Amino acid sequence: MKIITGISEIKDLMRKERSKGRIIGFVPTMGYFHHGHEALMQKARQENDVLVISVFVNPCQFSANEDFDSYPRDSERDSEIAQRNKTDYLFAPRQDEIYPVDFQTSVKVGKLEKLLCGKSRTGHFKGVATIVLKLFNIIQPDRAYFGLKDYQQFRVIERMVKDLNLQIILRPVDTVRDEDGLAASSRNSYLTYDEREQATVIYESLVKAQVLFRSGISNSSDIINEMKAVIDKRPLVKIEYIDVVDKNNLESLDKIKKGQTLIALAAKVGKARLIDNIVV
Ligand code: AMP
Repeated sequence: MKIITGISEIKDLMRKERSKGRIIGFVPTMGYFHHGHEALMQKARQENDVLVISVFVNPCQFSANEDFDSYPRDSERDSEIAQRNKTDYLFAPRQDEIYPVDFQTSVKVGKLEKLLCGKSRTGHFKGVATIVLKLFNIIQPDRAYFGLKDYQQFRVIERMVKDLNLQIILRPVDTVRDEDGLAASSRNSYLTYDEREQATVIYESLVKAQVLFRSGISNSSDIINEMKAVIDKRPLVKIEYIDVVDKNNLESLDKIKKGQTLIALAAKVGKARLIDNIVV
């Protein structure tokens, strides 16, 4: 595995790989790897000749009151995990090369970025779309892999790829969970023992929604109220939002449509803001 920090260096290497007819799979990340990241790496490894992972904690997707400074980082451990998953190139660019002082361009994906997490995280998806487009232009992969834990992020990137005619196949990967159901996340490292224990209620509430729907309840407000009741039993978990939305355009639905509906939520647990979702 080669670890590359320079943009021109990785571009040269990618050009050489492409000239040999090799298919490039790309997994963009913010590092501090867990088994969710590994699932993306493994799928990308299987499907492509070359596996490129990027690690970049992107300041432009954090607002001033968020956790950019404290976001967990461990480049040595990340290298070991990337190597174990047979990565060819680990691209870890420097912030000042990605965002030189006169940087001033961004990508904004209209309606989609204002819904769900976009309501409280102003500018977040603009930051995400901009860095992902930059990384796509640098690596020019054939396929790129994104986790469905960040479901809205996947839809935003998908829209950008369509709208800007990018020649990249997006491959979604199902959410990877710990044994008790909690979705794997770098931010789980913020949780104390008690918070970690109570955080399982996030997934429990989604399972409850699924069970209720199967028993014939399809009203979104009834489902949301039941989910709230489940979560409120765990005082360390503070709901930011629960929404029942169309899984394609992410707009709110009054009633669940089978196979077409995403239930998504965000909650604060201590210092961590955690998100999760299921398609019903
Ligand atoms: P991050 O480093 O948190 O920006 O995540 C990098 C990629 O890993 C994104 O495409 C995420 O959606 C994906 N990812 C993060 N957590 C999980 C998970 N628990 N299951 C599947 N994919 C995940």
